Amino acid sequence: MNLLDGKKIANQIKDEIAVQVAEMKAHGEKVPHLAAVLVGNDGASLTYVGSKVRSCKRIGFESTLVHLPEETSEEALLQKVAELNANDAIDGYIVQLPLPKHINEEKILMAVHPDKDVDGFHPTNFGKMALDMETFIPATPFGIMELLRRYDIETEGKHTVVIGRSHIVGRPISILMSQKGKAANATVTLTHSRTKNLEELTQKADIIVSALGVPDFLKADMVKEGVVIIDVGITRVPDATKEKGYYITGDVDFDKVAPKASHITPVPGGVGPMTIAMLLKNTLLARERRQN
Ligand code: NAD
Repeated sequence: MNLLDGKKIANQIKDEIAVQVAEMKAHGEKVPHLAAVLVGNDGASLTYVGSKVRSCKRIGFESTLVHLPEETSEEALLQKVAELNANDAIDGYIVQLPLPKHINEEKILMAVHPDKDVDGFHPTNFGKMALDMETFIPATPFGIMELLRRYDIETEGKHTVVIGRSHIVGRPISILMSQKGKAANATVTLTHSRTKNLEELTQKADIIVSALGVPDFLKADMVKEGVVIIDVGITRVPDATKEKGYYITGDVDFDKVAPKASHITPVPGGVGPMTIAMLLKNTLLARERRQN
């Protein structure tokens, strides 16, 4: 079993970006500037946004955190989005999801200017992705592709089973892996909560990308020997013995599945850090595209 060390690869990517940023600075160019909008005080969202901002600092990006109260109206958030669209200093920004229930997420994401949409969630960017055009690829699937590429995982013609059809992970990764290119050219089956006999599909899979968010969902008897496993799931399981009061786990019964797998991502330390690295990569791309 080989571990697909997302933390290590993410650090390599950040180091590469930091070198580019240092060169930009040396040439007197503007450095990339990422903004993050956070509405409310959801624990996981605070953690994610905090580590995005810290990563910006580490690699020399400028960053702005726009932290709004839980009771912010949809109108006020749309106004903030319009300001960020118009602010020339900001190269790209994200609106951290989930938003409070009284705000229509779709409406907000549609208002983000596609050129600054470094999460790749706007229909213009998602459509371009599906059509193999230059765009911003959503950070989590982008991170999975980069991890597969950097570990030279053979995907061509391989039967890949994706579990979960969300707009931010399952759907885009199924599109990307079926396209032409490195870490792609796979034969993809997209499965979801209405799929019948899922284990018959996973047992035949060469590669499994699991993105459903159910701890220990993927068991050893559901996979074949030599499978490649990408565990996207992140669930906080309450645990009074832990300092934080919870521990983080993925979708895969890691201890039992790992011995059968040729390659597997850990949780934490797999796809999660890659997601942040690729958000930074998209922000660098946004700066470069605005410069040209
Ligand atoms: P989601 O929570 O929006 O949806 C879950 C998906 O799982 C749905 O498409 C549903 O059809 C499918 N599903 C549910 N039960 C199923 C079953 N029994 N069999 C097959 N499919 C089933 O999905 P999401 O937003 O992609 O999140 C999935 C997990 O990935 C969560 O744990 C989330 O925290 C995590 N996540 C991690 C990262 C990262 O950076 N590592 C990024 C995004 C999401």
